[in-house]
Amino acid sequence: MTADIVVIGSGVGGLGCGALLARYGLRVVVCESHTIPGGAAHGFQRQGFHFDSGPSLYSGLSYRPSNNPLSQVLDAIAEPVDWLTYDTWGCCLPEGTFDTQVGAEQFCTVLERLRGPAAVAEWQRLQAMMRPYGEAAIALPPAALRADWGAVQTAAPFAGRLLPHALRVARLTGPFQSLMDEVVRDPFIRNWLDLLCFLLSGLPAAGTSAAEMAFMFADWYRPGVVLDYPKGGSAALVSALVQGLEKFGGTLRLGAHVAQVIVKGDRAVGVRLRTGEEILARRAVISNASVWDTLPLLPAGSVPEQWRSQRQQTPACDSFMHLHLGIDATGLSPDLACHHIVVQDWAAGVTAPQNVILISIPSILDPGLAPPGKHVIHVYTPGNEPYALWQGLDRRSPEYAEFKHQRSAALWAALARVIPDVRDRVEVSLVGTPLTHERFLRRYRGSYGPAIAAGKALFPGPKTPLNGLLCCGDSTFPGIGLPAVAASSWLTANTLVSVDQHRALLRQIGIG
Ligand SMILES: Cc1cc2nc3c(=O)[nH]c(=O)nc-3n(C[C@H](O)[C@H](O)[C@H](O)COP(=O)(O)OP(=O)(O)OC[C@H]3O[C@@H](n4cnc5c(N)ncnc54)[C@H](O)[C@@H]3O)c2cc1C
Repeated sequence: MTADIVVIGSGVGGLGCGALLARYGLRVVVCESHTIPGGAAHGFQRQGFHFDSGPSLYSGLSYRPSNNPLSQVLDAIAEPVDWLTYDTWGCCLPEGTFDTQVGAEQFCTVLERLRGPAAVAEWQRLQAMMRPYGEAAIALPPAALRADWGAVQTAAPFAGRLLPHALRVARLTGPFQSLMDEVVRDPFIRNWLDLLCFLLSGLPAAGTSAAEMAFMFADWYRPGVVLDYPKGGSAALVSALVQGLEKFGGTLRLGAHVAQVIVKGDRAVGVRLRTGEEILARRAVISNASVWDTLPLLPAGSVPEQWRSQRQQTPACDSFMHLHLGIDATGLSPDLACHHIVVQDWAAGVTAPQNVILISIPSILDPGLAPPGKHVIHVYTPGNEPYALWQGLDRRSPEYAEFKHQRSAALWAALARVIPDVRDRVEVSLVGTPLTHERFLRRYRGSYGPAIAAGKALFPGPKTPLNGLLCCGDSTFPGIGLPAVAASSWLTANTLVSVDQHRALLRQIGIG
């Protein structure tokens, strides 16, 4: 089989990139190791319950025009997703348990109650300071970027928007902490910001890029803001990307594990599947697998050893504990918030194992995700479960079962703060560990992704030293999270087409 492009992996990054390239008119084959597409964002079903394996927090997708690169991918392939919206969050913090709404004003009300007027004033100063950084962060849409000199032409229409922020751009590539330190003294606000940073990037404020936070401020603290959730769960988003890929002539191959990238001379020319089948690529092979999962696919000598060993040493975020539940919802309050965040102890730090726990009950927004009268729940520790604790355990052993039981206790306890009698309601219960994550998501050490600290290093771009091999997804610029991964899809896809084709697509979707 021969295509123009072979994409290794059907994560949101790989599907987005593949769908865009198909939209550009290239023949694309996406090879996915798993039997379900979507990678970290795949959905799965048990006994009528529709579970999300990963993302639960979405924003900036339900309105137009949107600055979210994922929204722009969906626009480019004309595959709308039905976004459900909400504005209330449950918080179980050391300061107390309460519901809060998203948006600047609502957060000020919470601050006033918890910390008093001085904290509110400090928050407002931070917002005022972040406003121009937010404008700078969205001045140049990632959809206009490409990793070659053509970027001068495709980015040119945005120069007028970017120029007033020229001095701010340098600070955007640094850590958010340096901006935060200028105005924020209140310990609660500092903890809260650290938490938001951790949820966005897997790192606290000292390692999260100011650009990522500026983008978030521009998005979350707008007047009238709502958060989004895809009707049908994360699987619906994945389906939209697959439909876009296929609509433009692309092919998704499931259960197609790539064993090796085929190299001829100095060029990647295709992939060899575990079954021995070869799929050739006239233009390029694109790896959506993580950096650590991509390197073993490259034959010895095909890339400089120094590059290989440097990439192999990319620091990794920790992994996850997951609790997937289907429960009887009889008698639960109709006002129950669909998302809750639990922080045990600020002093331990947001990255401390089991200290931060997220709870998502998406059937509150979309009852179709569970049988009538039931709820589907995903409780997880977001990238703070050390893989080392699990390394070497046999998944079939009694020790593993016992350790799962021990390490999931914190998830149950967090959920009991929201639904006290949850154990009596359970109909389906599945516990995932870093080993589950590693196995089902084909992720090295079950990692959330690269722990590349802003200000110390940059995420690499899509190109590699091997001609014809590019990368996309959360191991490449700008990093982890759905908007970032979609930005990488744009960057990689655009790099493989002419400036004219690129500009034509931007015009068609109203960018620039
Ligand atoms: C539990 C969890 C919660 C999250 N919550 C949020 C959130 O609320 N909001 C948000 O924006 N982001 C969130 N994220 C982050 C976001 O989901 C990820 O950054 C994003 O989905 C990663 O997409 P990707 O395409 O880069 O990689 P992946 O999703 O990891 O996709 C890579 C794909 O490559 C495949 N693959 C690997 N090796 C091979 C091979 N040799 N052959 C064939 N296929 C291969 C894998 O099977 C996989 O499907 C969360 C992540 C997790 C895990």
